[in-house]
Amino acid sequence: MDYARPTELEEALGLLWARRWTIIAGGTDFYPALGAGPLKDDVLDINGLSALQGIAETEEHFVIGARTSWSALLRAPLPPAFDMLKQAAREVGSVQIQNTGTVAGNLCNASPAADGVPPLLALDAEVALSSAEGTRHLPLSAFILGNREIARAPHELVTAIRVPKASAAGRSSFVKLGARRYLVISIAMAAARLVLDGRQVAEVAIAVGSCSAVAQRLSALEARLKGADAAALPPLIDAYDFPELTPIDDVRGTAAYRRQAAREIVMRAVAGLLDAAGQGGLAA
Ligand SMILES: Cc1cc2nc3c(=O)[nH]c(=O)nc-3n(C[C@H](O)[C@H](O)[C@H](O)COP(=O)(O)OP(=O)(O)OC[C@H]3O[C@@H](n4cnc5c(N)ncnc54)[C@H](O)[C@@H]3O)c2cc1C
Repeated sequence: MDYARPTELEEALGLLWARRWTIIAGGTDFYPALGAGPLKDDVLDINGLSALQGIAETEEHFVIGARTSWSALLRAPLPPAFDMLKQAAREVGSVQIQNTGTVAGNLCNASPAADGVPPLLALDAEVALSSAEGTRHLPLSAFILGNREIARAPHELVTAIRVPKASAAGRSSFVKLGARRYLVISIAMAAARLVLDGRQVAEVAIAVGSCSAVAQRLSALEARLKGADAAALPPLIDAYDFPELTPIDDVRGTAAYRRQAAREIVMRAVAGLLDAAGQGGLAA
């Protein structure tokens, strides 16, 4: 096998153009997936690419470089709309995992239980895919195609995740349900972002993970909540039947439990945001 650790993006893209490599960032998904077996693939280690490190701001976007770790994200000064992503960051494994694992690696691994996906869906995030031919941007919802399946071509590298500033409005909250409090794979998780105009919902984005092969935005629920009075949100959530979700039975929980849990954690996420906005005490 070959191992390459380029220090320039162009060099990395040139290598990917020439032949197939397995990309490694923090390695916190990559190494456990290897199990006890030997390393057989040619490995392209992106940890020498300083250009992919950190979070930058352009006129229209917040740009999270592909080498940004969960810990670096937690330290970054970002608007409250990113609180849900930071809350998810604190839930990714342990501090050691957060120091090493990257936000982009979480998306590329495309686990149904990836904690980063629901918050980034609720931020309308896009994924930057670069190759020797240039860069294209895909909405996150079009990047993750299925369980462990992404829209990356073999010669492409994910270089960044970008969040439109127009979507970085309001307050946000993330609620994760696991079998224990820490170091646990999600049974279900919910991310919610809410913009209130007085008592009225001006904007709302809600996504649920671990209840379908790919985390889902709850667009039909969002449509019902938009324009509603804050007091109407809990009954509207309660009455919703979550058609976007297709949970399965597995060792962590049954489909029926996940469906019930999804309603509860969406309710808690939204209730928390109403409390923070001084519109609390309204949730059932
Ligand atoms: C003990 C433990 C606990 C964990 N707990 C959680 C948890 O609670 N929640 C959770 O969501 N995850 C958890 N994880 C999984 C993991 O830590 C995260 O998914 C992490 O964000 C992965 O990032 P990474 O940089 O380590 O990815 P890597 O392991 O380096 O890569 C993951 C995959 O993405 C690909 N990849 C990485 N970067 C790029 C890129 N720039 N372009 C193209 N492809 C790329 C790799 O080829 C690989 O297929 C845990 C892992 C461990 C070991």
